[in-house]
Parts: sequence; structure tokens; C-alpha cells
Amino acid sequence: MRTRFAPSPTGPLHLGHAYSALLAHDMAQNAGGEFLLRIEDIDRSRARPEWEAQIYDDLHWLGLEWPEPVMRQSERLPVYKDALTTLGEMGLLYRCTCKRRDIEAAVSAPQEGSGPAFGPDGLIYPGTCRHAGHSDSNAALRLDMVKACDMLGTPVLAFSETGAAHKGSHQITPEELIHRVGDIVLARRDMGTSYHLSVVLDDAAQGITDVIRGEDLYQATKIHVLLQALLNLPTPTYHHHRLIRDAAGKRLAKRDDARAIAKYRNDGASPADIRKMIALPRT
Ligand code: GLU
Repeated sequence: MRTRFAPSPTGPLHLGHAYSALLAHDMAQNAGGEFLLRIEDIDRSRARPEWEAQIYDDLHWLGLEWPEPVMRQSERLPVYKDALTTLGEMGLLYRCTCKRRDIEAAVSAPQEGSGPAFGPDGLIYPGTCRHAGHSDSNAALRLDMVKACDMLGTPVLAFSETGAAHKGSHQITPEELIHRVGDIVLARRDMGTSYHLSVVLDDAAQGITDVIRGEDLYQATKIHVLLQALLNLPTPTYHHHRLIRDAAGKRLAKRDDARAIAKYRNDGASPADIRKMIALPRT
């Protein structure tokens, strides 16, 4: 078993991250496997070297170790570009110049039936640029989901989940991908890639067998399994874990500095105290 923790260096690690990292580490250790770290720093406007340094420091303090060198997404842009070229040559991508407000305006136009539909990435794209033939190299790249499903030709995709909330084997139908996911962005204008594309290529490159991450990413998994099928990559087993919430039941976010691991460290907590707070057994 090979697991990973893949934080974005855009803020302090909090108790939710500690849970994810420790769980991925413990599961690998219990199976005699390996735990890897990956820095997801493709969002250059938000990633900061000081947050990355704090991530290493907090994780070491928690007692975690990982092989060096650590994979950093900012160093893998050529790999992402190659995959986009492949998908482009398969005829599955188109350029999109829509701003968020254009999409909001398009989907809020009076329609028959129910209101706007949401997918894993928010509003499902109404397809405005699908046949526009834009050539602006600065535009975002979207996946044409109908073409992607046609190309695969297989009726359903499948993945296994070991997390308690969704345990079992899951099937993903083309209808679900077309109507409940839609034409997702695979390369953002400002990044040249996207979370979905990078995570799939990196999990494959690192030979990850079990992706352990928060429940908030469960819905994104169907996108990842689809991309694996299109790019001929193996599908790992997924494990989506419960989210750590504050006393009011609200999920922790990066801005919840009050729950930062660094804050507990400064207040004199031990790594064992952190494990206790998030109800993880000692190792
Ligand atoms: N980088 C993502 C985050 O910090 C995690 C991605 C993943 O585990 O798939 O939320």
C-alpha cells in the first residue's frame, strides 16, 4: 500500500489536515506500506514558501516521515501540458473564455424545469464556448464530456471505496458525467492546469494505491476516475474520511487559524494530544 498526503501551501495546517495526514500515514504503516508527501502548489497566486516550510515543520513534529525529494506540482507543469496535448489530440478539449459571471448569467436565464444544477466544481457549465472555436491561447481548456464518454465507449466506470461513509464498489455512468459533472475545466487560464488533472497525473506518477482524503472530495472522484480512463492510468482505491468540525459543527477551513496545529504547539500540546483531539489511536 502506498498512500499520500497532498496539502496546498496556502495557509496553516489545521486539525483536519492533521487527521488526513496521520490517517494516511497510519494506514500505510499498518499495512507495511509507504507514506508519501506531495505539495500541491499550482495556484501560484495563493501558495507561499513560508506555508510550505510550516507544513514540513508541523508534519515532522506530528512524527511523520516521508521519502525525499517531495513531489511539488509547480515543478511538473510540462507533465500536465503533455497530458493536455494528448487530450487535445483526442479532440476532447475546447477553449473557453467565459468568466464566472457569464456562466452565472447563462444558467440563471429562465429555463423550463428546475433551477441551475451544481456539480463537483460548482455550477455545471452550460456549454457556451463548446462550438465557438476560440483560439485564444490564454483561454481556459474544458473537457467535452459528451465526446469523452463517447470515446470511452464503456457503459460504466468503477472504483472501490474503503471509507466508512461510502464503503463498497461504485459505478459511474456516462449520464451522470454528462448531466451532473459536465464540461469541467482541465486547464485554468492562470495556471495551465487544474486540481483534477494534476492530482490524477501525480497519484499515478507516485504509484499511489490508496488515496486517503476528506469527504469534501468524494464528488470529485468521478472526475478523477474518468481522467484515469482517458489517460490510461490505473485507478487507486479511494478512502474518503470524515471531516473534523469545530464545536459548532462547522467544517474547519484554512482561515480557521484558531485550529492551526502551530497554535496548539505554541500552547504546549503534544502530538499525542493532537491524536486524542481528533480521535485517532496512538501508534
Ligand atoms: N490539495 C488538496 C487540498 O489541500 C488535496 C487533494 C487530494 O487529496 O486529492 O485540499
